[in-house]
Amino acid sequence: GVPEVPVRPIAERRVSRQIMVGPVAVGGGAPVSVQSMTTTRTSDIGATLQQIAELTASGCQIVRVACPTQDDADALATIARKSQIPVIADIHFQPKYVFAAIEAGCAAVRVNPGNIKQFDDKVKEIARAAKDHGTPIRIGVNAGSLDRRLLQKYGRATPEALVESALWEASLFEEHGFRDIKISVKHNDPVVMVAAYQQLAEQCDYPLHLGVTEAGPAFQGTIKSAVAFGALLSRGIGDTIRVSLSAPPAEEVKVGIQILESLNLRQRRLEIVSCPSCGRAQVDVYKLADEVTAGLEGMEVPLRVAVMGCVVNGPGEAREADLGVASGNGKGQIFVKGEVVKTVPESKIVETLIEEAMKIAEQMEQDGVAS
Ligand code: SF4
Repeated sequence: GVPEVPVRPIAERRVSRQIMVGPVAVGGGAPVSVQSMTTTRTSDIGATLQQIAELTASGCQIVRVACPTQDDADALATIARKSQIPVIADIHFQPKYVFAAIEAGCAAVRVNPGNIKQFDDKVKEIARAAKDHGTPIRIGVNAGSLDRRLLQKYGRATPEALVESALWEASLFEEHGFRDIKISVKHNDPVVMVAAYQQLAEQCDYPLHLGVTEAGPAFQGTIKSAVAFGALLSRGIGDTIRVSLSAPPAEEVKVGIQILESLNLRQRRLEIVSCPSCGRAQVDVYKLADEVTAGLEGMEVPLRVAVMGCVVNGPGEAREADLGVASGNGKGQIFVKGEVVKTVPESKIVETLIEEAMKIAEQMEQDGVAS
């Protein structure tokens, strides 16, 4: 299960209405959820389900699949039924796939009604079908596919243009009494994106799906997303997040979870407090931190482990953590809850830390600290 939200999140959450994406509540004070999108051909049911299983294992809570062809639409029912997490069908332009996705039991559909307004009464029919099936809709405005009318009005995809587009799209559903909606206004520039979401947050009470679109390869995309989501979530804005990386989708999930943990919007799990090292270091801190991280990977309890290179700040930080090591003179002082429990030769530091961590984790699990 998803760990409970700890006592002090970064900010009070913006008040938004709540929608249900399958069993996952979005908005209305529900924990911020992490989502991603498959990269397989959706029509390749086996490969898609395999990737969804990997995403589920990495902590993904909602998954989106693209649906550009009839073969993809035909695959939706099986995928929606067999997926462990709610599936959102991502549809552009073709209303017939929207109906197919709703019929297939998808947990939600991403579609921009502005795209399909040209098909006379289709928006009304979609609103009715979605309402009948209890299927929420995400309106996903993207800088790259902004309505031509708004591009002309604003000259480019400004925050105002993105927000006007989103609210106009929402109004097309509202006309038919449909409000089971969440909205995204994505842009590849975090500064524009943050401004857009801030304005949108003030002008409606729909839950918001945060994303920096085309954020880039893993390193750049991680930074852009972390900075933008951090700016918004620190003001309480954002109900579900998707990190877009030119990298395997499980990486997106890892980054998303880490962002939420950093902001105390989710219970932190393993946290390595390691020093950057400096001229005083008496041990290879990078190597030690990497080895400890690798050794403790997969640990689900909230454990702070300090890895410090010398005795200047070492003992202090190591004492503050659940567990820690301060190195010096070829030895490591091992601290547990502020007490030196043993001093071991450098070669034994990693295994001793892992051993002690396992003991603490076991104790925490018995005490019911873990999720
Ligand atoms: Fe330098 Fe020691 Fe601080 Fe690490 S703990 S940065 S080695 S002074």
